[in-house]
Parts: sequence; structure tokens; C-alpha cells
Amino acid sequence: MANLNVDSVKERTFDAIVIGSGISGGWAVKELTGNGLKTLVLERGRDVKHIKDYPTTNKFPWEFEHHGQLPSAVLEANPIAGRCYAFGEDSAHFFVKDKEHPYVQQKPFDWIRGYQVGGKSLLWARQTQRWSDFDFEGPARDGFAVDWPIRYKDLAPWYSYVEKFAGIAGNKDGIPELPDGEFLPGFPLNDVEQYFSDHVKKNYKNRHVISARCAHLSKPNQIHIDQGRTQCQNRDLCQRGCPFGGYFSSNASTIPWAQKSGNMTLRPFSVVQSIIYDEKKGKATGVRVVDTNTKETIEYYARVIFVNAAALNTNLVLLNSTSSRFPNGFGNDSGVLGKYVAFHNYSANISAEYDGFKDWTVDGRSPTSGYIPRFRNVYKQETDFLRGYAGGFSAYRYQQHKYDGVGAGLKEGLVKGELSPWYVGSHMMGETIPKESNHVSLDAKLKDDWGVPLLNMSIDYDDNDEKMRKDYIEQLTEMFTTAGFKNIRPQTDHRAPGLDIHEMGGARMGNDPKTSILNKWNQVHACKNVFVTDGACMTSTSCQNPSLTYMAITARAADYAVSEMKKGEI
Ligand SMILES: Cc1cc2nc3c(=O)[nH]c(=O)nc-3n(C[C@H](O)[C@H](O)[C@H](O)COP(=O)(O)OP(=O)(O)OC[C@H]3O[C@@H](n4cnc5c(N)ncnc54)[C@H](O)[C@@H]3O)c2cc1C
Ligand code: SF4
Repeated sequence: MANLNVDSVKERTFDAIVIGSGISGGWAVKELTGNGLKTLVLERGRDVKHIKDYPTTNKFPWEFEHHGQLPSAVLEANPIAGRCYAFGEDSAHFFVKDKEHPYVQQKPFDWIRGYQVGGKSLLWARQTQRWSDFDFEGPARDGFAVDWPIRYKDLAPWYSYVEKFAGIAGNKDGIPELPDGEFLPGFPLNDVEQYFSDHVKKNYKNRHVISARCAHLSKPNQIHIDQGRTQCQNRDLCQRGCPFGGYFSSNASTIPWAQKSGNMTLRPFSVVQSIIYDEKKGKATGVRVVDTNTKETIEYYARVIFVNAAALNTNLVLLNSTSSRFPNGFGNDSGVLGKYVAFHNYSANISAEYDGFKDWTVDGRSPTSGYIPRFRNVYKQETDFLRGYAGGFSAYRYQQHKYDGVGAGLKEGLVKGELSPWYVGSHMMGETIPKESNHVSLDAKLKDDWGVPLLNMSIDYDDNDEKMRKDYIEQLTEMFTTAGFKNIRPQTDHRAPGLDIHEMGGARMGNDPKTSILNKWNQVHACKNVFVTDGACMTSTSCQNPSLTYMAITARAADYAVSEMKKGEI
């Protein structure tokens, strides 16, 4: 029951509600408030204010109690979060701890989450690749999922729009499968990365190694300065939160921008339980929230609702929003809600050494590295698996210090050191195929502290992933061998799905309401004033990083929502 003593209904009524303040929610609130809508942002976690709430950002390594390493007791208590490469002493405070927010794993799935204002935008690796028509047309071409209701041309102007505001560093590489964008200057590859790039260009058709495009201000424009952000200092300590606003996060960019409009109300500590559907009006009228401090249930009302709780939590909210009109979850006339969940396959990597460029080393740090765009099954189906993979690529060497000896000898060893050989490495980033059997549902028995059923997950790899992994290892081994790299060590990483942190689907877009939840504008087919624009909406997963696409899709949908509201359609 709603607690009607909290505030008057009027005070709890807004033009728009956004559920979640992470990467996609930040864009929803920026666009809605920018168009004059009084917007309430509901965030289950605490507030994290840019700069003020980055407690480790300026610490030196020796100022950490454990020199950046987490004690084994913390790692043992967090076997899931502890598997994420970014979970360290400097950043653990931005991660959900395993015991605090349990979920049910019918099959192992490493669910990495950030519950706070800014969500995972404080933690992400900021890799930003546009998707192309090879991705949006892929399902129709290969028949592996339902057809996307949009194409690249629908999103291209919105990619440009969000890139200009967020600030994306990159080069115009002219690769059709990885469309160019509105870039700030790209970060240079180092000598060995450039050597490999040249080698691949010379020896392979349609294969490339480029500087990975990333959401960093290599050279800020006025719009970034207006946000209060400054040039990236290449400190490479980004997961602590960046005091310069050098990389894009909701905290540094979209949320304070929305705040400045005077139209945003941010309510942290507010777990959205469900969306309220009014049978008589035939539309959603608001959301039910549990205040995590007081445990009160409160209702908030609005004309339009954007669901941006991150893919699997969005599924949870929708599945938990039942009514006699939607007994199986919000907008779930098709029965596909919670199904066709897909992810990325990061389960292989390869490392080696290189003897060349002994006279050269790196100068400073780069916040990004090399990127190998997808080259398999792009122009034709050439393998026995569907779709393809991209790869990271980086080369580095470091000072090897000597710790033996005493007195002056020890001091000399510690100070001088010798350069290590060049090490090179790549990791696989594969597309997985959305399948009905990969699904999430509400647990029948277990509930969380706010009375919401726990999410029960059944998600796994399949043969396609296995074949793709094998091909990645074969192709990269060959490319490394022909480049003259030595001591090549391919590895299968026996990780559970999820650790790529690119979970998608469950409330997919599609033309046909019988097989999808959302239309081409991200509106719930069966309830036009609810929009879902985070990873839950994705019909397929591409192998490019997804967050830039969530941003573009959100900005596009918000623009549409505003115009529909002005026309009185919603
Ligand atoms: C270490 C790491 C590296 C990554 N690297 C990259 C990368 O290089 N490139 C890339 O594209 N992506 C990357 N990602 C993924 C990226 O962070 C996510 O794709 C992105 O943050 C998703 O945006 P979102 O808005 O859907 O979710 P989030 O940013 O997670 O935000 C969701 C918000 O909703 C809130 N919420 C959840 N449930 C509720 C509820 N019931 N009520 C109220 N609020 C709720 C959460 O607390 C959270 O703040 C990375 C992620 C991590 C952790
Ligand atoms: S690399 Fe750039 S964005 Fe990252 S912490 Fe340093 S200055 Fe900030």
C-alpha cells in the first residue's frame, strides 16, 4: 500500500520519471529536463557527487592500506565482484558486494553491478564503438534473432549527438563495419602496437588494428568545458572517479547538466519495485518505490516513464510489475519478457613477447589501447559459427627493479631497474546469440530486503561461442606468428558468462508485438508511455561495446517521447 502521508499527491507528480541514474538513465534525464520536463530520477543507491565523493582519486599507491590490493578476506567474501579486473582497493566502494544484493544462479552468471548515482558509469572502461548496419541487419541476414526495427541510419545522427557531448577520442579509420564518429583527437598507438597495425594492414584483407575509441577528453571542446570538465591527464586511474572529468560519466556530465536545468529532482535510496498500470486509463501512471532508509513504500506519478535500471534489473522491474492487464509482467503480451538475454563472450585471450623495438619504450600512460574490429562473417558467412568477434590489442614493457643486495647496490637496483621485453596481448570480445533458453525470471520464493523477488538467472554459453572462441585463438595465433611475436600463449579463460558486463536483452525491440516487447522508438508495444532504453532493449548484441549505443538510443527515444507528449499522444 502506498503511504499517503509522505507528501501530497501533487508533490509526488512529475512530467517524467527515470528509473536509474547510470549511463542510460543519465542521458534520459538530460534530454527530458533539457526539453523542459520536470523529471524525477529514482536511484536505488546512494548519491555520488562528482569529485566530492571520489575518496581515493588523488591517493598515492603508498597511501592505500594494502597498496591497492584487496585483502584475501574481502576477495573471499566477494567471489563474484572479486573476479572483475577493476575491483580493487581504490574502487571497491563503487561495486555491489556479493552478500548485499544476492540473486539466484541456476547456471553460473557473474553479475557485476554498481548501485549508486552514476551506476556503472564510474567504473566502465570507456570503450565506445558505434554499431554498423552489419550489426543491425545481422539478425535478418542470419536469422538468429528477430529483425531489429531500426537501422544504422536511424541512429547515426544520435550517435553524433551523444558523441559531441560526451567527448569521444578516436581517429577516422574509414572502416565500414565500425562507422566513424564525431571524434576528438585519437590517442596514439605505441610503437609495437603501430608495428602490429602496419603488419596486419599489409598482410590481411579487411583486418585492422586501430586506436580504440574511448570516452576521454583528449582535447576538450567548449561544450565539455561548459560541463566543468577538463582534458584527460592520462593518469589511468579512472575507476576511482576522475576529478578532471577527463572521462564521461553520468556524475561528471549528464546528471549535473540536468541539475543545472532546474528541472531535475534526484531521489537516491529509492528502489523501484514496480510500475503502476491504470487499467481505466490504459496507461502507466507512476511507480512504486521503497525508501531504503525508512522502508516506506511511496508512489510517484508521471506522464512518461523511462526504465534505465541496467539490463537485468530492468527485466526485474518489468517482471515484477504485474496487473490484471499484464499478469506475466509489464507489456508482456508476447511472453518473451526475460527471454533472449545475451551477453558478450570474453572468454579467451592471447599473450606473447616481441624482440624488436628494444631502443624504445612508452612515454606516460594511455587511457586506451589498440582495437581489432570484427573481421569474421562481415561481408559473407565464411565460418561454421554465426556472427563474429572483436579483439583488444596492447603492447607494453615496464621497469624491472632489482630487490636484492644491500646499501648502495640495493638502492641502485631499486632506482634504476632495467626495461622488460615488450609484452603483447589481445582479448576476445565475441557476440553471443540471443536464445529463448537464456532467460531471467522472478524467483518463486526468495525476496530481497525491499520485498522484491530475487532475480533467477539461467544463462549459458553454447556451441556457437565455443566455435567462435576456437577461431579467435587460431586467427590471433596466426596473426601473432606472422608478426614475429614469440612465446605465444593462447588461453581459454573458464569464466562464467556475465563478467564481460555487457548483458543485454530480455525486453527486446522488434517490429512484431508478438515476438518483442518494444517498438522502434523503445516504447512498450502495449503501453506507449513507458520507454526502455538500456541494454534490456537490445535485439542482438553486436561485438562492439554497447554503452554508446545505449546513449544514442536513449537520446533518440527521449526526443520522440517529448514530441509525442507535445502532440498529446502520450
Ligand atoms: C569494469 C567495467 C568495465 C566496463 N567497460 C565498458 C566499456 O569499455 N564500454 C562499454 O560500452 N561498457 C562498459 N561497461 C559496461 C557499462 O558500464 C554498462 O553498459 C553501462 O553502465 C550500462 O548503463 P545502464 O544505464 O544500463 O546501467 P548502469 O550504468 O549500471 O546504471 C543503472 C542504475 O540503475 C540503478 N537501479 C537498478 N535497479 C534499480 C531499481 N529497482 N530502482 C532504482 N534504481 C535502480 C542502479 O543502482 C544504477 O545506478 C563496463 C562496466 C564495468 C563495470
Ligand atoms: S586517465 Fe584521464 S580520465 Fe582517467 S583518471 Fe586520468 S585524467 Fe581522469
